[in-house]
Amino acid sequence: MFGYGRKNFTWNGTLRELEGSWSSRRRPSMTASPSSSSGIEVLLSTLQNAGDVESTLNILNVLDELLSAGTDRRIHYMISKGGSEALLTALVNTGRSFSPNYTILLPLLHLLAKVGHRDRRIGVKAEDAGAALLTLNLLRHNVKHARRAAACLWVIQVFSSSVSTANLIGANHGLDVIYRLIPHYTTQHLHAIKAAIDAFAALLCTKANVSLVVSKGYVSGLLRLYENWHGKGSQHAAVPICHSLLRCLHKVTHSTVGRQEFVSQGGIRLLYGTTQTCLLSKGLESLVEPSVQLMRKCLPITPLPLTSDQSAYNFPLPGRSHAVPDMDAEPDENSEESDDEEAEENKEADFDDDLETDLNKLRLRPDPDRPKELLPQYSRLCPELSHDFQELGLRSEPEESSTGSSSSSSDEEAVLLNRFPFHTSRRDRGRSAAGSDSSTSSPGSHSETEPKGHTPAAAQLEARDFHSHSSILSTSPSSRTKVREARDEAHLGQRGDNQDDVEEDADESQHRTMIDRLLERHGACIPHHEPKLYRAAAAKTKSIPGFSILAFPDFWGHLPPPEHEPMPPRKSNIQRQKVFEDAQRFLTTDGIINQVVFDLEDSSLQCPSDSLRFFSKFECGNLRKAVQVRRYEYDLILNADANTNQHTQWFYFEVSNMVADVPYRFNVINCEKSNSQFNYGMQPVLYSVREALEGRPHWVRTGTEICYYRNHFCAARGRRRTTFYTLTFTITFKHNEDVCYLAYHYPYTYSALKAHLKVLQKLVDPAKVFFQQQVLCGTLAGNPCPVVTITACPASRAWRDIHQLRNRPCIVLTGRVHPGESNASWVMKGTLEFLCSSDPVAQSLREAFVFKLIPMLNPDGVINGTNRCDLNSEDLNRQWCKPDPVLSPTIYHTKGLLYYLKSIGRTPLVFCDYHGHSRKKNVFLYGCSVKETLWQSGSAVNTVGLKEDPGYRTIPKTLDRLAPAFSFNSCNYLVEKSRSATARVVVWREMGVLRSYTMESTHNGCDQGIYKGLQTGTRELQDMGAEFCHSLLSVTKDLKALYSQRLIRHIDLDHNVLDHKSHNCFEDDEPPCVEEIEYSTDCPALKGADLDSDVNSNTASADEEEEGDEGRRGEKHRQSSGNGLLFPHLMRQASDEMLGEKRNTCTSVSVNGQILS
Ligand SMILES: [Zn+2]
Repeated sequence: MFGYGRKNFTWNGTLRELEGSWSSRRRPSMTASPSSSSGIEVLLSTLQNAGDVESTLNILNVLDELLSAGTDRRIHYMISKGGSEALLTALVNTGRSFSPNYTILLPLLHLLAKVGHRDRRIGVKAEDAGAALLTLNLLRHNVKHARRAAACLWVIQVFSSSVSTANLIGANHGLDVIYRLIPHYTTQHLHAIKAAIDAFAALLCTKANVSLVVSKGYVSGLLRLYENWHGKGSQHAAVPICHSLLRCLHKVTHSTVGRQEFVSQGGIRLLYGTTQTCLLSKGLESLVEPSVQLMRKCLPITPLPLTSDQSAYNFPLPGRSHAVPDMDAEPDENSEESDDEEAEENKEADFDDDLETDLNKLRLRPDPDRPKELLPQYSRLCPELSHDFQELGLRSEPEESSTGSSSSSSDEEAVLLNRFPFHTSRRDRGRSAAGSDSSTSSPGSHSETEPKGHTPAAAQLEARDFHSHSSILSTSPSSRTKVREARDEAHLGQRGDNQDDVEEDADESQHRTMIDRLLERHGACIPHHEPKLYRAAAAKTKSIPGFSILAFPDFWGHLPPPEHEPMPPRKSNIQRQKVFEDAQRFLTTDGIINQVVFDLEDSSLQCPSDSLRFFSKFECGNLRKAVQVRRYEYDLILNADANTNQHTQWFYFEVSNMVADVPYRFNVINCEKSNSQFNYGMQPVLYSVREALEGRPHWVRTGTEICYYRNHFCAARGRRRTTFYTLTFTITFKHNEDVCYLAYHYPYTYSALKAHLKVLQKLVDPAKVFFQQQVLCGTLAGNPCPVVTITACPASRAWRDIHQLRNRPCIVLTGRVHPGESNASWVMKGTLEFLCSSDPVAQSLREAFVFKLIPMLNPDGVINGTNRCDLNSEDLNRQWCKPDPVLSPTIYHTKGLLYYLKSIGRTPLVFCDYHGHSRKKNVFLYGCSVKETLWQSGSAVNTVGLKEDPGYRTIPKTLDRLAPAFSFNSCNYLVEKSRSATARVVVWREMGVLRSYTMESTHNGCDQGIYKGLQTGTRELQDMGAEFCHSLLSVTKDLKALYSQRLIRHIDLDHNVLDHKSHNCFEDDEPPCVEEIEYSTDCPALKGADLDSDVNSNTASADEEEEGDEGRRGEKHRQSSGNGLLFPHLMRQASDEMLGEKRNTCTSVSVNGQILS
């Protein structure tokens, strides 16, 4: 709204006419209107052709009234009708003359700023019209007229939304003009100063302009300006200027040269200092966040302190002479950070493209990936079909179970021998162990963990073996002492023995005695866990580095803590505080130690006696390096997945030599996911050996000041992918010199699975439960991948009962294809235990179904502590279309088993692959539906005639009622192209399994139901596994109908079921975090409304009479400055009312701008 009219003017009639044209926009078909040009078009055309000042002013006035009164839609409408072009033409016509008429130019510029700000193509249009340089020229001539200059600057700002226009203005010294005019103004001209800085910031959207600014040394000038304005303290007026300056600095630092200049000009130090002040003053608080983000962004890029990004674990793949090389070792010198952050933000915005819309691909089954002849081999994995149940009736002899186990081990041998001819048989292994040293060959000894080829020398083995056994308790002498003390307290009088324990030459049997005694004294009674079985299982596990040490928690066992663990409330400004501390590291050397205290590849490393000790060379462990940064702060670097240089996220390591009651800060500095539930209430887990020995063998959620944010580290060798994130958390240990374990999530090792299956096998009632463990295949490293069959034994050997058993539909459950998702294993553990239990539901499920479980699809990955991949550096859950029999054996044979079941008419009724989820809360399922995919994608395919069985919703709906952690609303049934090679999609599409799911369990906790606000523990995860079984009852009901007809009913989907919004955007099987979080990465962008209010305030004041009191800028009832101009606020009000629905007051604007009523 402007008040420039020297002559008086009313436009009542036209306003109504115009209103008519606005509203016509809402009608669907505007072309149907008989009138070819709307009121606005008439106005615009008049504006461009108007010769005289008065009518131009009138039109500008009317336009401004209209645009000020409505929403942005009006402006967009005007833009669509050529509004920007008309204004630009008028600008050029007026501005070109020798002495431009500012009476017209000023309102024209103001209007152009408002409209242009909403026109994405304004820059290009301005260039076309020749308005860009003209405006710059006008600015040059009006440096001394603050008000005119401000108007030009706003227009330059909006023009700069186009890169080419910004470059044009930059190349014509626009940046110099603006930079130099800033000091011309005093605090009396705040508008002009702010307009100048904002225009300057806008021009910095291009690399060329940033380089220019850097080369001219303007960055240091901007920093000094910031310092000055900041020094004006909490004077309200200074804050917006400071914000604008920070915006400039943010723009400059989008590029590498800008960041370097910022740092070399002391930018970080300056901001560090000013921010300290901000924190103390309420008025300046808003400057903290953008300053902190600037510091975070500009901390000099530092390579990770590694000699290679390649994993410390390399495994020679069959058929390849060397491990996968560093794929993109070429350093990218000129890598710009500029687009990265934006790119990441936008990356997740629209995933609809990913939905499969090709109906053929959705419905047609591809040909099998292998010849039929290869399928009969899988008949061995269906022992229930050939078993004759001879043993039924011989109750006293649990023969079935023993047959099962003996057949399983011979099976295991056979498969492994077959697959890995180089592998020694068990007998050979026994012999070699016995040959090396009889003292180490006792059953369960760790010598067996050393596969051939990993054994350097018998002597070393012996030493290691000793180490392993003592390290079952601890890995450092001091912590061993601690453990011994704990033991002594409970068991005085055994001192002599205990001292022997630490002697280097202590002998195996004594170790065993010690462990036995410890277990006897301190061992908790943990259901389904036997430490000795675990040790025996671990002894056979083959790892790349040849692990010989057990992590205490896996060996000893874990009991969920008695209490639920709530998500700790997130303290505000944690990230800010951590970035401060990080910046401090850069600014000062005081208290900075920076010493490597652990290196997975350098066991000879000596660490100072007062530092923490780290260790991770055990199953699932994956700490690669630890650097002591300050006295109580450590940077931790995770090992990349074996044979790769990436996928770091999962961690598990041992820490000891701590001082109690001191907060230690840990920074895992090479995380890769762009966000994490660690920002939303999730805590890592900790296990204390001391606590375990005192009867509390719990993994507990722990840590304070947890935060996850992008950091300044890059890959060690300039790998292209340079973005890393820091997970920081602080831990205050309870005991001095304890031995503790820290992990991303509750660890669950491969050996734990093996031991667990052994325990189950021993526990099941062989008369009731048919439980058979077999080997699906050997893995690349030669570990057997177990497959378990569970069903009910037939009631008798009568034909009818045997027939019933052999016709039970199959349910296939798989899990842990992603090693970092240990929660999947805990859920699977719950499922296994429930299915073997005496629960009546379990009994009826066993009677109704045959369960085939492959609890760990990726044993090698799990063992070697990888996060995502198998040893062939592939994500196995992307291999299902054509799995390689040699490189992805577990997937190849799981798919083979499924093909086989299909080929004998036993296509599974349900398939579910258990996963873990690091970025969402709750537990939920992903399924597959043609119709939902087509609907969600907005596909034009007519789905009316499409038949689809809605049965895929039964299980999720049942779970929603049964399982407190389950969230139906988080489920979706969309088929994405990027997921076309996952288990869920392939089993659905190729095998025709209607109920084919991925079950995602949160790493964090729940935000609904009775677990709301709680983190999940292993108890809840196991319960989930049992509840999943319960939900399978819901598909038994129709069994008779289904199987008598041998058909699945085709019914139309019940549309009412679709009462929730499906989410369909995810990455790595995971949707992004949806919650709001203090996780900003940039200055907030200048909003249209801000610009408008700046422009409006410029309008209201008289030419060249700048107001000093900025505090009143926003006041609505500003007084007229008294030279006969209109009352802008009253005008606004008037036009609002005229255009609004409340017309009964019948107002109009008089010649003097007064309200007539
Ligand atoms: Zn997964």
